[in-house]
Amino acid sequence: KSQAKRFQPSDSQTTFDDVAGMEHAKTELQEVVEFLKEPSKFQRLGAEIPKGVLLMGPPGTGKTLVARAVAGEAGVPFFSINGSEFIQMFVGVGASRVRDMFRTAKENAPCILFIDEIDAVGRVRGAGVGGGHDEREQTLNQILSEMDGFESNAAVIVIAATNRPDVLDPALLRPGRFDRHVAVDRPSREGRLGILKVHVRKVKLAETVNLEEIANGTIGFSGAELKNIVNEAALHAARDGKNEVEMEDFDSARDKIMMGVPREDIMNE
Ligand code: ATP
Repeated sequence: KSQAKRFQPSDSQTTFDDVAGMEHAKTELQEVVEFLKEPSKFQRLGAEIPKGVLLMGPPGTGKTLVARAVAGEAGVPFFSINGSEFIQMFVGVGASRVRDMFRTAKENAPCILFIDEIDAVGRVRGAGVGGGHDEREQTLNQILSEMDGFESNAAVIVIAATNRPDVLDPALLRPGRFDRHVAVDRPSREGRLGILKVHVRKVKLAETVNLEEIANGTIGFSGAELKNIVNEAALHAARDGKNEVEMEDFDSARDKIMMGVPREDIMNE
């Protein structure tokens, strides 16, 4: 498989309607949407718009989804890269790739540049035992200097995501870099219900299916796991040759996925 996929934007069709719950994150990001829609409105008043937003939360809680939705809401291109891709590159390539990435983003402004799993490249510097981390550090330094370099009139907003904010180099979090922090948690009961509703939109449900009950019985599940339940239930029903997905299909899908949900999370609620 290709190691360095080309850095191309995608037109995001995702909107906030596709993102259930996450009200806090959506509110925080609404300002970014407004800015990307009409940068000049803010720039002419000399308003400072954040360059970088860090989304922090467990896997599968919708960080990528909500970043994509910001681009979709604003109608701007969405560039995305995974932090681990920098690490897999040939020696000396990481930093120049970062340069290219920011150049391309600036050429396409206004736009969103999304860096998933930024911890892969953004771990605290000098933490490696006996060195060997030069490549990663150069890449990180390049990200820092790119963020310092672009003026606030470049309408590029960098959104990064991590589930390990604790390991990030503090330099990444300084003013003018990723200084906006948005925590994304596993969904509440209401959130779970909303997420289930989003994902059953295209599914043929039997009348017996009670989404409230499913939301009640899925404490600790992430959005990704809830999406998975809906799909597993549909597969289960199809395998049995049914015309509609029934409650029992959801029950067995939940039991199957439940095995993968960490117990401590279930006990947190
Ligand atoms: P990771 O840290 O593993 O990259 P993530 O937080 O970026 O995870 P996403 O990739 O955005 O999570 O979520 C995976 C999928 O789960 C989404 O594409 C979406 O279908 C579903 N999902 C997650 N959260 C929500 C939500 N709040 N509303 C609707 N769907 C959701």
